[in-house]
Amino acid sequence: MSFSISRRGFALGASALALAACNQNGGASGDGEENFVNVYTARHYDADRQLYAAFEEATGVQVRALTGNAEQLLERIRAEGDATEADLFVSADAGNLWRLKDAGLLQNVTTPTLEQNVPSNLRDPEGAYWGFTKRARVIMYRKDAVRPEEVATYDALATPRFRGQIVMRSSTNTYQLSTLASRIERHGADNARQWAAGVRANFARDPEGSDTDQIKAVAAGEAQATVVNHYYFVRLMKSEDPADRDVASKVGLVFPDQTTGGTHVNISGGGVTLHAKRRGRAIQFLEYLTGDAAQNLIAPANTEFPIRPSITPAPELAALGAFVEESIPLDALGRHQAEATRIFEEVGWR
Ligand code: FE
Repeated sequence: MSFSISRRGFALGASALALAACNQNGGASGDGEENFVNVYTARHYDADRQLYAAFEEATGVQVRALTGNAEQLLERIRAEGDATEADLFVSADAGNLWRLKDAGLLQNVTTPTLEQNVPSNLRDPEGAYWGFTKRARVIMYRKDAVRPEEVATYDALATPRFRGQIVMRSSTNTYQLSTLASRIERHGADNARQWAAGVRANFARDPEGSDTDQIKAVAAGEAQATVVNHYYFVRLMKSEDPADRDVASKVGLVFPDQTTGGTHVNISGGGVTLHAKRRGRAIQFLEYLTGDAAQNLIAPANTEFPIRPSITPAPELAALGAFVEESIPLDALGRHQAEATRIFEEVGWR
């Protein structure tokens, strides 16, 4: 298991002991809690470090971030039990947050600020987790081979038109599981199975690599279309590396299902751990993440969509145009996760 430590992070080895020792350095604050918050985060974006620094600047409260993949962090919080030093769990993808809630590792939290900041479709109904960014799962296609109207829906990718022309990342990836979970919620399991089987039949190669790798494969001519989170494309477009910008120039982006229920969207979000030792700090940080200052910082920095329409998105996002997003209960992405896994296995989408 390998963890990387953020710039604002604590010196932490593999043991919780090191973390506990570290905590003694934190000063007590006026409201009785120490002046730091421990965040176990499965987000993997450089932009987050700016956010921690800005929070510390604004509040004097230090963010100590431990990064790892969601599965590792979940197991760690479970193993640490009531001795855990984790105050807040943060993850990209609602499916991961749901799994912590389902395992009884989060506590329900509600404050007027959170209620006001986070639209109801971007948070757990009981307050176990709260979204602070929004991402769209879009279709990318190769411009010299596909007309955008040919990929106007996710359904299109499962038709014979794209035989041998689709690349996808592995079904074990949470983004992919949530994409299928959303379909199960919207159209039922049979429909989801047929779609997954159709896409699987169109694979140009076995699933491998990241979202960015799928875009590169499409640009390189290995396939004609794929499905990825929107910001990976924007990142290539904005890259300082000319090779990345060349990749971006060869592909087009479509927000699918504009007339049939909307594009699948997901969140990054956070939830206060059941045994948080600094519950007040965790809530303070969550309120900050969902507030205007952080929204104006984080959304452009990682090119994610802000959670409120009142916040202006990054220019690159505004340039993509407005789109219709799906409207389903956020916890559906977690509730259907096991079934999504089963369907992917059944159709041989590994
Ligand atoms: Fe991502």
